[in-house]
Amino acid sequence: MVAKTILKNVQIEGSLFDLTLDLMTGCIADIVSSDQTRNAEVDLAQLWDAEGLQYLPALSDMHVHLDKHFLGEPWKPLQPFITLPGQLAFEKQMLESLPTRAAERAHRLLQLLLMNGTTAIRTHVDVDPKIGLSHLEDVLEVREHFKGRMDIEIVAFPQQGLLRSQSMPIMKEALRAGADLVGGVDPAGLDGQVDASLNAMFELSAEFNAGVDLHLHDPGQLGIYTINRFADLTGEAGNSGRTAVSHAYCLGQVSEAETRLLAQKLRDNGVSIMTSVPIDRPMPPVDLLLEEGVRVQVGSDNILDSWSPFGNGDLLARGSRLAEKFGWITDDALLRTYPLLSSASLVPKAGDRASFSLARALNAQHAIAAAPPREAVFSGGMLVGGCWLRGSRKDQVVLA
Ligand SMILES: [Zn+2]
Repeated sequence: MVAKTILKNVQIEGSLFDLTLDLMTGCIADIVSSDQTRNAEVDLAQLWDAEGLQYLPALSDMHVHLDKHFLGEPWKPLQPFITLPGQLAFEKQMLESLPTRAAERAHRLLQLLLMNGTTAIRTHVDVDPKIGLSHLEDVLEVREHFKGRMDIEIVAFPQQGLLRSQSMPIMKEALRAGADLVGGVDPAGLDGQVDASLNAMFELSAEFNAGVDLHLHDPGQLGIYTINRFADLTGEAGNSGRTAVSHAYCLGQVSEAETRLLAQKLRDNGVSIMTSVPIDRPMPPVDLLLEEGVRVQVGSDNILDSWSPFGNGDLLARGSRLAEKFGWITDDALLRTYPLLSSASLVPKAGDRASFSLARALNAQHAIAAAPPREAVFSGGMLVGGCWLRGSRKDQVVLA
């Protein structure tokens, strides 16, 4: 087996470096300037010349649904969104009509995410009394299959409403079966009981020592009240850093003063905000949240599913949309987008996990602005995505 890969001429901060990837440890063994002469003790290595391609950190898609999309299925015409219960019934009927299992569909989306440079995800997986743990069991199986290439964190997601669909017992089973986090959705709009719904989520969180990630579309003051209570419950449970509110559109629907006050509370209680950067509705003011020290992360959310025909699983493009939406045009501002998309550094060092992408860009800020295709994606030292995987590079040299 080839134990090491050498990537020559990778651009990092305007200079070229040669990276040695160790396939046994999955880490970067060595980084040297490309103009330094390498001593010849390279054994059993394969060599690629990146020819100045830009280094980009591996991406983490923090909100994605592996079990809902129609990728690889025939085209499905959608209906306009009218009411949430109506949409939930529509989605159920669409998913039930698919001939494929959730496992097969999860596999397809994971391949797409890897192709685009994402090597870690948080996925919300539907559980309810009707489908039971069927989707979760499929996603757990696929998680095993992708081990070493994709880190997968699973949220047990009561899409039909935690209380509304009487999903507490099945949520417990899901957390016992291997789900990592407690999910929830619209305590007001769907469950119709904000406090009881939130209390139920935190009850599960305490029982299973699990984090919480709430889907919140509830608007205006209703949403603000919910986030306030969510932050209180996070603080009371000592769950700082382990809870998140996904979407939180309401933060973009109230006065700046009110959002700022709540942002400080989110920061103090360690609650993150997850956004898919919607452009069809108000969204949380990300720059204000960052200014107040709130952790913000980005996810794809819907990708060709019964909610939306849009989305392509490219988180770098999603980051580009975020930067453009908020007018982040200076180099500093463009570069500050990366921590919202990745937990890794723009400047790797020896010993770091060998998970990253290479793209044709002048520098990292240009890559955010242009979101060029990924030429190569490595995860744990293995080539897992990008154009090279599709066979555009036949010229790899194997040194024996
Ligand atoms: Zn979602």
